[in-house]
Amino acid sequence: MSIETLTSAVRNIPDFPIPGIQFKDITTLFQSASHLKELSEILYERYKNKGITKVVGIESRGFFMGPAVATRLGAGFVPIRKPGKLPYKVIEETYTKEYGEDIIQIHEDALTKEDVVLLHDDLLATGGTMAAAYNLVKKLGVKKIYINFLIELEELNGMKHFPKDVEVSSVIKF
Ligand code: AMP
Repeated sequence: MSIETLTSAVRNIPDFPIPGIQFKDITTLFQSASHLKELSEILYERYKNKGITKVVGIESRGFFMGPAVATRLGAGFVPIRKPGKLPYKVIEETYTKEYGEDIIQIHEDALTKEDVVLLHDDLLATGGTMAAAYNLVKKLGVKKIYINFLIELEELNGMKHFPKDVEVSSVIKF
């Protein structure tokens, strides 16, 4: 299956959730067994030789593929969540969004300095969310971090947030 086929399975919803946003709906991609399998294969092939020990997914759409990829890679899965959701001790990162500030949290004992992390989310827009997640994971002193998105909105240039020595990749580009 080609990347074009995967791309055409993403549904564009104009003006959702607010006017001016072209929302990329991945439910149409995931509901197809063959598309889902192909996505999982692509991610497995891309990361199988990187020694990934933990996949870290960002709430909430990073929870769709994150555990599936972790299973294929033989890695564990760790959630990054919004405040008040994780039950144990957390560390957090505050970041600025278009309107106001947001906070994300991770359990303080979720990762160790031996971990090689694949940080995953569904979509790269401005990059603010993933940049905060990257800083959060860095605080736990892991060995190495890879970053992956299913979709990248190229014109927003979100890649500028990440250091040059970090391997960042996306599967579908708009
Ligand atoms: P950003 O921090 O600007 O890179 O935004 C990324 C987060 O917002 C991801 O978790 C996405 O799920 C969501 N997001 C932002 N823009 C869109 C969009 N056009 N379509 C779907 N999800 C989006």
